[in-house]
Amino acid sequence: MKRAEALKKIGVRTVGDLLHYYPKNYSDYTQKKYVSVESVDRVLSTKVRIVSEAFLQKNNKGISILKQRVCDEGGDFFLVWFNKPYMKYKFRVGDRLVVTGKVKLIGKELQIVNPICEEESSIKKSGAIYPVYGQTKGLRTDTIAKIIFNAFSDYAHHIGETIPDYIRSKYSLETRAWSLQEIHFPSSAISLEKAIKRLKFEELLIIQLTLMSIKSRNHQLNQGIKHSSKEVFSLFSQMPFSLTDAQNKVLKEIFEDMSSSKKMIRLLQGDVGSGKTVVAFLSMLKAFFSGYQSVLLAPTEILAKQHLDGFLDFIRHFHLEDSVSCCLLTGSISSGKKNEMKEEIKSGEVRIIIGTHALLQEDVIFENLGLIVTDEQHRFGVRQRRALENKRVDADVLVMSATPIPRTLSLILHGDLDVSIIDEMPPGRQPIKTYTINHLMLSRMYNFIREQLDQGRQAYIVCPLIEESTGDMTSVEELYTNLKAGELKNYEIELLHGKVSSEEKDRIIHSFLSNQAKVLIATTVIEVGVNVPNATTMVIYDADHFGLSQLHQLRGRVGRGDIQSYCILINNSKSELSWKRMKVLEQSNDGFYISERDLELRGPGDFFGTKQHGVPSFKLVNLFQDIQLLKEVQNLVVNILRDDPLLEKSYNLFLKNAVDRMLIEIADDVALN
Ligand code: ADP
Ligand code: MG
Repeated sequence: MKRAEALKKIGVRTVGDLLHYYPKNYSDYTQKKYVSVESVDRVLSTKVRIVSEAFLQKNNKGISILKQRVCDEGGDFFLVWFNKPYMKYKFRVGDRLVVTGKVKLIGKELQIVNPICEEESSIKKSGAIYPVYGQTKGLRTDTIAKIIFNAFSDYAHHIGETIPDYIRSKYSLETRAWSLQEIHFPSSAISLEKAIKRLKFEELLIIQLTLMSIKSRNHQLNQGIKHSSKEVFSLFSQMPFSLTDAQNKVLKEIFEDMSSSKKMIRLLQGDVGSGKTVVAFLSMLKAFFSGYQSVLLAPTEILAKQHLDGFLDFIRHFHLEDSVSCCLLTGSISSGKKNEMKEEIKSGEVRIIIGTHALLQEDVIFENLGLIVTDEQHRFGVRQRRALENKRVDADVLVMSATPIPRTLSLILHGDLDVSIIDEMPPGRQPIKTYTINHLMLSRMYNFIREQLDQGRQAYIVCPLIEESTGDMTSVEELYTNLKAGELKNYEIELLHGKVSSEEKDRIIHSFLSNQAKVLIATTVIEVGVNVPNATTMVIYDADHFGLSQLHQLRGRVGRGDIQSYCILINNSKSELSWKRMKVLEQSNDGFYISERDLELRGPGDFFGTKQHGVPSFKLVNLFQDIQLLKEVQNLVVNILRDDPLLEKSYNLFLKNAVDRMLIEIADDVALN
């Protein structure tokens, strides 16, 4: 019973889970290995003998350090444990163990810190490479190995195949049953490699095929609304500016989808300031002329409000303000007013509805919703997006994102969507000049900011924290107090963060918009949306705490007019990597390039970490290291679906079954109908 509990903790509930609970590492006894200066920074397993009693020390932070001298074929070294004083009596002098871990050289001392220790006697005699599993309380790695070993003897013949023969032979892939067995109990290093390759291939193939076949199904089967009016085209000749080629291209793609009787599910990607909003507005007007309501969902009140104002300006320009009725529905609106609005939405009196999460509530009912636009879609969980999309399942859907991601990754994140990309900026923009400084240059920086302000410009200053500064991070509140009394005491400055009440927020934004406040000190609440072309300087404190794409987004708040703009990144970190990352921003203003470099420097953790929605996490695949394999698989998937869009052919049966299982697993997360 206890064992079942312990297994549950590591996410293992069924035999299937168990077989997929892959080893974290392997102890390899096929090669002679021992701890030496040459093995520093490598993970290895070695047979050791305990040569003296363990002894306890404390470091200056009060953390206990336990050290035990051992020796292997290479000589003496230390096993070291932090905060595990109870390990002191675990081993006796003379005990023999196999230890696994990374070798470190501290001063002149060789160490393995927090080693995995196994008794030598517990090691099986059959092969040479042994699995090492992620351990949990109450379950040792060799216990897990035993349970899995038993599972194989009972269930091996039930392990089904997922990849058809024609694909396996083309890509030289082993069978699934063999690969699962080998990944747990490798018979050699070569077969382990083959097993891992096969299982990685499967992970990528099934997820990519699932996402793309959702798209393929949508294209084949989903009935949508036909927005047939062409009236919107009459506005094109009266636009306040001429659209860029890229805007025209994506509008053509969107309008084609909207006019057809198929449902549109399209992602509009484009860097900050590339002009996505105008594209959305025109699409909403096309829906309007075709007789349908449209809704625009924004992640923050600030942004929703700004979209409404922008939309009103836009339609006034075309003298449409009397015929197109709009409303703004956000959380902070009084419930009486809200109810009134809901009535008007339900009766169809308002045609354009802009708002925040408040729109998702069940009692928001539309009369005849035809187009759903979500701005900054990565800010919403897919579930939230779906809550809106479910209000009218055949409505066309446009999601917008200013987070450029490399195309390969986009296909695996958004494989279920059609994608339109705006890859060109409106003319007249000067690239933002970006500099990285450390705290020694702060007073020079404030000189520069005052100069800018004296020329009539405005500035943003962004900090990661709201309240108290911690040891290494600055808070907006403290900075605000300091600047008000110091560097910026002669200037009107305002403070904005997520805890400010919404009336106060409105007042602050308005004060900055109207050029009354000269400096806006803020947290990342200003990341999206805020549009003040007169603001030309963006200062970001503790810049190394942000992702490059996020820094790029923040920087996108300036450079919105035709005046030269500046971004100053303050980095007090000494790490070389953090300076390298800042350099990327200094050298480029291209969001796609920046995201590729971010991916390269940090790995895909951040694309596929907490912000990831819709794509289950991978067990074996590391999207950065395996990008080549991913490309190969993506090509394969395109070919499979071209040949068999609904996976109906008998030779694709394995694939169809695997995709159906995956669909159930991710049913709540993707836009399938
Ligand atoms: P995004 O939503 O992609 O960040 P916006 O749609 O807010 O970008 O556009 C940024 C600014 O550029 C806005 O002030 C907008 O009016 C302006 N703009 C958009 N398209 C053009 C264009 N083709 N020519 C000139 N200015 C444009
Ligand atoms: Mg936008």
